[in-house]
Amino acid sequence: MVSERKKFYITTPIYYVNDKPHIGHAYTTIAADVLARLHRQLGDDTWFLTGTDEHGANIAKAAEKKGKDVKEFVDEVSAKFSFAWDQLGIAPDDFIRTTESRHERAVNIFLNKLKESGKIYEGEYEGLYCVPHEAFIKESDLVNGLCPDHKLKPERIREKNWFFKLSEYQSEILELVDSGKLLIQPATRKNEVLAFIQQGLEDIAISRPNVKWGIPLPWDSNQTVYVWVEALFNYCSAIGYGFDEEKFRKYWPADVQVMAKDIIKFHCIIWPALLLAIGEEPPREIFAHGFFTVDGQKISKTIGNVIDPNEWVDKYGADAVRYFLLREVPFGQDGDVSEQKLKTRYNADLANGLGNLFSRVTTMIEKYLDGDVGEFIKSPRDLSEVSESFNRLEFDKGLVEVWETISWADNLIEQSKPWELVKTEPAKVKELLVNLAALLYDIALKLSPVMPETAQIIKSALESEKITKPAQPLFPKIE
Ligand SMILES: [Zn+2]
Repeated sequence: MVSERKKFYITTPIYYVNDKPHIGHAYTTIAADVLARLHRQLGDDTWFLTGTDEHGANIAKAAEKKGKDVKEFVDEVSAKFSFAWDQLGIAPDDFIRTTESRHERAVNIFLNKLKESGKIYEGEYEGLYCVPHEAFIKESDLVNGLCPDHKLKPERIREKNWFFKLSEYQSEILELVDSGKLLIQPATRKNEVLAFIQQGLEDIAISRPNVKWGIPLPWDSNQTVYVWVEALFNYCSAIGYGFDEEKFRKYWPADVQVMAKDIIKFHCIIWPALLLAIGEEPPREIFAHGFFTVDGQKISKTIGNVIDPNEWVDKYGADAVRYFLLREVPFGQDGDVSEQKLKTRYNADLANGLGNLFSRVTTMIEKYLDGDVGEFIKSPRDLSEVSESFNRLEFDKGLVEVWETISWADNLIEQSKPWELVKTEPAKVKELLVNLAALLYDIALKLSPVMPETAQIIKSALESEKITKPAQPLFPKIE
């Protein structure tokens, strides 16, 4: 019997194009790329989606501030995201922009379905609205009268909106999250979502008047669909909702949706409820990672410690940045990063660790075996735990395992002293180097989702007929 390939659909949030990408966006997208690469390696039918969120009042304002036409502005900023991902070795299968017609068309179909479901009604909202959030905010969410995220006083607004009966989904969403049918990771985030649901869900506005830069409601052109609701739907529109039924049925529901922890309420409550309303399955897993500080300080424009991922890539290379971010902080927790920390890891783990081992082994193979190791089949260490850790998004754990193996190999070389042994027992040296070549090859395979470029260099070197020492170090030491 031929078993069917498993499908694996993974997404990042679509990023808001009011500013260029920063290290937080890069972190989310690298993690998703690693999972996508891992599942492609496992033979799964993988689809990895990222993109940009381009509608809403704040985008129009940001464009105006720069004296630019809005479309021209979003084109420019969106291109900065694709460029940064390309630099970081991130290879999505699709990059969706919410200003694309495929998205607008799908959103229209979705909105009509929602209306037919009887779960929406016209009403009036009177309350608080946080402008940079582009979100309604409850009195009870404020800290000293300010939005806790933006430290700004929300505006009091009163306007006509269309509402979604989120309150009707209270028990269904609670069951979904509690049972793990919608898996929320890590557990702290699940508990946070459960506590929020237990406070009671209120209906939400899904449209706003007087927002020109957006998608009008199909039945009320004075209203634009609320940017958050529209943005969430990208996960469906990108895989063909409403126009490529076959592709949509193949990939939906999403297997893992990766994001930062600040947007889980939208994704774990509103998003599944909207899907249930239109008769679609909720996603299977939502994984929310933590926030970075830089040298213990919150990242902010005012402090001036915003990290541009491109600058790090230029100095250290994509693989080093990917490795550092996933190794430094356990995925899911908050953590501290800095260029100094990156440099330290680069020199210790990459230049002295992996790079040095690769150089030592290939140099000895060239010198003692004339570049020929013959066939190497089985690695002397079992590295299967590594992929399993990556699959659970425990990237740091998997990487620690690899680096323990690198130390093991270094020790083995130190103890065996092949440079002395070769004079008396060349057969033993051959055996040692064949084993080390197999081990390095296995390390390259295991690392390739995280460090694709480096893994390719190691694999190609070991696959060549005559193995030679590298012309230049994999990771030249940085002073
Ligand atoms: Zn806010």
